[in-house]
Amino acid sequence: MSLREQLCEYGRRAVELGLVIGTSGNLSVRQGDLVAVTPSGAALDRLTPEMCPIVDVDGHLVEGELQPSSETPMHLAIYATTDAQAVVHTHSVFGTVVATTMTELPPVHYNALLLGGVVKVAEYATYGTPELAANVREALAGKQAALMANHGGVTIGATLEQAFESTRLLEWLCEVYVRALAVGKPNILTDAQLDAVVERAAHPPAFPRRRP
Ligand code: 13P
Ligand code: ZN
Repeated sequence: MSLREQLCEYGRRAVELGLVIGTSGNLSVRQGDLVAVTPSGAALDRLTPEMCPIVDVDGHLVEGELQPSSETPMHLAIYATTDAQAVVHTHSVFGTVVATTMTELPPVHYNALLLGGVVKVAEYATYGTPELAANVREALAGKQAALMANHGGVTIGATLEQAFESTRLLEWLCEVYVRALAVGKPNILTDAQLDAVVERAAHPPAFPRRRP
């Protein structure tokens, strides 16, 4: 699948799964010095490959008639400072709830380790600005995900599929946390408990084979 076709595919899935509504959110995927990005102000479930602009990593428009996403500076800032090959940004409900009320998402489930543990909330700045790009870059350091204060979430990956799966996981973790808060005081996993998960994942016990 071409980079632009991938944007159409995952844009459609993002809308189907309710991760974005209307024209909110944007996706990009990189190959070498080129980045295919969703166009600004377009419904992500109605994209065609030709609608998706291609920019270079310095932000020059290389191909396409439509304007690249307003968050292109954030996507490019992430590519400049990580080895990510794809970026997904949404305004998913539970992610935005956490981003509106907290400074970080505490690890209440071991799957948070897949995103780097604690997910930080980047300080608020106006959408599309270099300030927001810088704040997100800082919150993302060493992680696969960040939340954006009063705005939404962003995830990265080695492929668009990976970045998209991390967005689904981020939303699930935020939903679990918000629902847990409604029931009682969520227990936060300790560093020792998280270390034990890393250890268990690194050394899975082998199942002895049954003798014939
Ligand atoms: P674009 O339509 O320009 O991608 O903007 C959507 C958005 O989520 C801005 O933060
Ligand atoms: Zn946004």
